Amino acid sequence: MAPKIPRRAQAGTLVVLGALVVLASLRALSSSRGPAPGTPEAIERTKELLLKADAVFFDVDSTVLKTEGIDQMGHCFGVMKEIAELTHKAMNGNVKFQDAMNDRLQLMADHGMTKRGLDKCVEREARFPAWSPGVREVVKMFHKQGTNVYLVSGGFKNMLYPLALELHIPQNQVYANEVLFDEDGNYAGFDRSNPTAASGGKPKVLKMMKRKHGYKTMIMFGDGATDMDARTEGPAAAFVGYGGVTVRPKIQAGADWFITDFQEILDVLPKGHEL
Ligand SMILES: [Mg+2]
Repeated sequence: MAPKIPRRAQAGTLVVLGALVVLASLRALSSSRGPAPGTPEAIERTKELLLKADAVFFDVDSTVLKTEGIDQMGHCFGVMKEIAELTHKAMNGNVKFQDAMNDRLQLMADHGMTKRGLDKCVEREARFPAWSPGVREVVKMFHKQGTNVYLVSGGFKNMLYPLALELHIPQNQVYANEVLFDEDGNYAGFDRSNPTAASGGKPKVLKMMKRKHGYKTMIMFGDGATDMDARTEGPAAAFVGYGGVTVRPKIQAGADWFITDFQEILDVLPKGHEL
């Protein structure tokens, strides 16, 4: 007859086994996601991935540019301060993403944003984009090593196309929102079918691109939480946090590699120093 194991001992064994299973799965999870963010190992891994990336995705506001596009639009229609306040409110998560977008566009429409007014605004803003130092060189180096470069932004396509042109990024590699106008050129909302028109838009764009092009190594660059989502909730192999405009503690802590100067990327890419 098999010896009888006391019930308490059996329960203890189950607890230990359970803990081991949890530990093992946590380890498996962390190894599939790479080393802990910001550690020398994570930075080294990111540098290696940068060299073999088949696609890189850049946020625009406060990353490629030092400015926030929607604030610039607000500036054109004399409501920059009000728009910045609404943006701040939206970033703190007190308002639904799409409502925040509509509130800001409506405010601009109330202050003269017609199709013509917006075209003029785009033309004026595109004359002197406030590029983050080194970002154009970084894009150039990625192109040189054969990496596809995308812009993924919660901003608006018409503001981004002139930038894309200068960066030699085709328009179909720009994922952003679209303001709609009626036949008379009056504001008529925004295209809600764009992936970037809702929260979780950036991971969604990366997933779409992975499916469409079969990318193996995708890297996201950005300054905000929606950018980091491309890594934590999307297929990005690494997330480079950019703090050259705004340092956000959450990004500083969560990015695989947190940089404050694009020169750091140029130093990794082949011949970057020769620029
Ligand atoms: Mg940004």
